[in-house]
Amino acid sequence: MGDSLNKSDIASLSDEIFESRITNHESPNSMSSSPLLADLIDALRCLPGVGAKTAQRMAFHVLERDRDGARKLAERLALAVERIGNCSRCRTFSEEEVCVYCASPSRDRGLLCVVETPVDQLAIEQATGYRGQYFVLLGRLSPLDGLGPKQLGLDLLATRLAEGEVQELIVATNPTVEGEATAHMLSQLARAAGVRASRLAHGVPLGGELEFIDRGTLAHAFGGRQEL
Ligand SMILES: [Zn+2]
Repeated sequence: MGDSLNKSDIASLSDEIFESRITNHESPNSMSSSPLLADLIDALRCLPGVGAKTAQRMAFHVLERDRDGARKLAERLALAVERIGNCSRCRTFSEEEVCVYCASPSRDRGLLCVVETPVDQLAIEQATGYRGQYFVLLGRLSPLDGLGPKQLGLDLLATRLAEGEVQELIVATNPTVEGEATAHMLSQLARAAGVRASRLAHGVPLGGELEFIDRGTLAHAFGGRQEL
């Protein structure tokens, strides 16, 4: 059953109800005794999944109970935003011009794994024994959102492939419609550079049971079966 609500659905639903209430009656600012508090609530809403009600709860929580924590959070946020940029070779988050993955002499320069986000990179790093290098797209092909080859840094990737060090491009974009379109474009880029491209396998999750797996995944797993 995919219809049951999880905790975050309920939280965002209650945010929506709260917001419709305040839009119908008063603006959030007029409900607060302090303009600074209203500004804080408004600013917290830039976080994903945080609506008006959750932002209000967070703001009251830090003011009532954890001002030290809030000071630390403010400092860390300011520092992170100020100092963390993008690696000039792979575009992942980095405080240096070149990140630790790109700078490491022990990583295989012949393998280049392309991921959509730094979080995906971290997931692969933590779950696999991969010792090659990465390229981070910082998005996926999505023309409606203004994300094309230029925004994904494909010119930088093409330059990297043309250097001749990369032997295999491992395409690890997500198995979504946009992720697949991105994978297709990456495979064309690799072919043009004469580099072998591979794609992460789609399959049955470990511990899963066939009858509960969605048709698309099962069809992919069936098509990609391997010899025993
Ligand atoms: Zn890098």
